[in-house]
Amino acid sequence: MIRFENVTKKYSGTKRPAINEMNLEVARGEFVFLVGASGSGKSTCLRLILKEEKPSKGSIFVLGNDLGSISSRKIPYFRRNLGVVFQDFRLLPNKTVFENVAFTLQVIGKSRGYVQEAVPDVLKMVGLENKADRLPHELSGGEQQRVAIARAVVNKPQILLADEPTGNLDPATSAGIMQILERINAGGTTVLMATHEAGIVDKMQRRVIELVDGIIVRDELEGGYGTTG
Ligand code: ADP
Ligand code: ADP
Repeated sequence: MIRFENVTKKYSGTKRPAINEMNLEVARGEFVFLVGASGSGKSTCLRLILKEEKPSKGSIFVLGNDLGSISSRKIPYFRRNLGVVFQDFRLLPNKTVFENVAFTLQVIGKSRGYVQEAVPDVLKMVGLENKADRLPHELSGGEQQRVAIARAVVNKPQILLADEPTGNLDPATSAGIMQILERINAGGTTVLMATHEAGIVDKMQRRVIELVDGIIVRDELEGGYGTTG
């Protein structure tokens, strides 16, 4: 589903590579935490998968595509298979909850009828069916992140990438977000989540890939945040 073969990413003007000779394989349906200190390369990893950055060396395969041979014209189509969630939500501030989620479907040309069915369905999945007409600033942080998740998955992507999705939320709110991500994963979506929140990783006991300076130092199938021995 996702494969890195000897991937190195060095940003221009920097001394050390952000990702260093990385080999990685994620199978369909997995839930994977990418952990490590700030600057260890987690976000770079996600951006490489999205083809927002390209590797300096090595090859990346996502959903059967060699990213090195996807033309820029085809990138938007490739990205339709990937949902993305960020720490800072990135909602459109002047659109309602419904419109924020619907927008994703409208830009890819889904019919009005499809949008009218799919949006309420996904809002229900994240527990926001009663807030469809609110604007983002009328919602709590946790609710805004639920909208962002709804938007990321409304098109039923095969992979969901989440970059510190609970980074701005308190622990109770974060637990609710993690339940939603688990539900999405249980539905068959592969989830790759970058985080440095030990409590969440310890509780979930899923696959943990730990990065130090762009190198995988640990890859455990049911791991916690820190090395368990
Ligand atoms: P993390 O997500 O784990 O905090 P990042 O992938 O953001 O790590 O960063 C990894 C390394 O790459 C850091 O040293 C960071 O400063 C550097 N880096 C990230 N983005 C850029 C960029 N656009 N240009 C130059 N260096 C960058
Ligand atoms: P928390 O502080 O627990 O993160 P808030 O106090 O921001 O949450 O919001 C609590 C509830 O009030 C939420 O359901 C949210 O939708 C609603 N709410 C918050 N601000 C507004 C507002 N300006 N207008 C309407 N509803 C709001």
